[in-house]
Amino acid sequence: MELIDGNHIAAALVAELKAEVATFPGRKPCLALVRVGEDPASVSYVRKKEKTAAEIGVTSRIILPPITITQAELFALIDSLNADDDVDGILVQSPLPKHIEEVATFRRVAPEKDVDGFNTLNLGKVAQEDPTGFVACTPAGIMELLARSGVDLKGQHVVVLGRSLIVGKPIALLALQKKAGANATVTVCHSGTVNLPALTRQADVLIAAIGRAEFVTADMVKPGAVVIDVGINRVPDDTKKTGYRLTGDVHFPTVSPLCAKITPVPGGVGPMTVAMLMKNTVKAFRQRATR
Ligand code: NDP
Repeated sequence: MELIDGNHIAAALVAELKAEVATFPGRKPCLALVRVGEDPASVSYVRKKEKTAAEIGVTSRIILPPITITQAELFALIDSLNADDDVDGILVQSPLPKHIEEVATFRRVAPEKDVDGFNTLNLGKVAQEDPTGFVACTPAGIMELLARSGVDLKGQHVVVLGRSLIVGKPIALLALQKKAGANATVTVCHSGTVNLPALTRQADVLIAAIGRAEFVTADMVKPGAVVIDVGINRVPDDTKKTGYRLTGDVHFPTVSPLCAKITPVPGGVGPMTVAMLMKNTVKAFRQRATR
């Protein structure tokens, strides 16, 4: 079994982006990070994004509206960032408070600055295989992890667990694309799937993104498969200072000995998500500069 080291691969990508940004004369790419309220996970995610941006030489602009912000005020804030020529990328950190409509908010971000890839146009460009679009960071990070680990999806049976707009659907579309590194046969499973283990056992590459701790067990995996664990779950654990441990959607101790390759949690897909956000921001900068 080979461990796919997301920390190592993300660090290589960050180093490449840093070298590229250093060649840009004058203004550097600028990423606006909008965090509504004080959700602890969001605070830590935005801090990590800010830190990685600084490492690469990307300017970050942190905007912290109060949790009481109205939908109209949030739209007005996004509109002002859309119109600001010095801003190349905009990210609105989820989760948003209950009174804010998440999909409508993501749609408000101008497509050419939508470095999170959640805008309707960018999701459509994934389906149309248009390389000018922005692919959502987690699925883009999974494709990059696979490519840099020497996994070619061509002709492989990829089984995706989960059909969310931010992971399941876009990763299924990416694996399906008729291009180098992809060109897979794809099955997408969800909570309505009947006899799920019979499908997962057919997977040459199994991508688990359901948010259920250690759901995928050894009897659900074909020996020799590649397993990508997207899940990030907090399981109560009194032996930890935090009172919890992080685990994926895959039961790592029993599944990993069976696999050809597997991503750990933490240290697999997670670090790639931030690195791909930076890659998208640099791409937005380049595309806007050559308009
Ligand atoms: P969502 O909750 O939006 O979607 C979960 C999907 O899993 C749904 O399609 C749901 O089916 C399906 N599902 C849930 N339970 C089952 C089940 N028992 N059997 C089959 N399918 C099931 O989650 P996300 O896609 O946003 O996230 C998934 C996981 O990935 C989470 O743990 C999240 O924290 C993590 N994540 C990690 C990231 C990273 O950077 N590593 C980034 C984003 C997410 P249905 O549609 O029928 O409800």
